[in-house]
Amino acid sequence: MLIFCLSWDLEIAKSKLNECDEKHSCRGAQDLPTRLLDLGIAGADRIKLVITAGKDIEDRRYAALSYCWGSSTPFTTQPSTLCKRLEGFVLSEVPATLRESIQVSRDLGIRYLWIDALCILQGSPGDAEAQEDWQRESVCMNKVYGNAYLTIVAAGSSDCSGGLIHGRPTCTDRGERVAFRDEPISRRAWAHQEWLLSGRLLVFTTIGMHFVCDEWEFPAFHASHAFRLPKSQAELTKGDWSYSHRP
Ligand SMILES: [Zn+2]
Repeated sequence: MLIFCLSWDLEIAKSKLNECDEKHSCRGAQDLPTRLLDLGIAGADRIKLVITAGKDIEDRRYAALSYCWGSSTPFTTQPSTLCKRLEGFVLSEVPATLRESIQVSRDLGIRYLWIDALCILQGSPGDAEAQEDWQRESVCMNKVYGNAYLTIVAAGSSDCSGGLIHGRPTCTDRGERVAFRDEPISRRAWAHQEWLLSGRLLVFTTIGMHFVCDEWEFPAFHASHAFRLPKSQAELTKGDWSYSHRP
């Protein structure tokens, strides 16, 4: 079992990704989701939503974000704001967890990012266009996470304003086995599925950053030595969890 505790050093995460690229077959296929965020170049203040069909995308690597929305309303794409998102928006408008996942993706050299709040149309239950989009896109979730070059997991934040990085990492050794505890995302049932669907994950917990892939096997049920997987819906009592992605 190898779970790499990486402190917050993205250069090490990058080298682990490269090593995984060279030695393993953990990387997903190259199919793209319907919409992606085009992060542009590093340091650029504006990013935009793109529709992938018919677009010539040479580098088909994209990251996907797994996170808790929380009670606050995140920055979303709605039928009424789709055109605006396609035109672009500034980074300062975006909540911390989403913004930091954009920065991490850029730092890792990944130009595209999938975030449900922005890549699936959101809206009230009475919004037929948003509901239709949700029906269409939610059935593709296995492909979205399965084909992602990397899934970024904001495990240590209970809402989208919490960010990825939490103070000084308490876990600084590299390449060692580490014991995890319950993280805020452990109580989000959908995160369990997103975790299982992903070939590779970069997990930001309250104690550090960790790289997990299919080959560096993860003993999901060895609770005393493993990250607690986000709990499945069945494990959580009714009312104890909610998929807060939909209002
Ligand atoms: Zn691997």
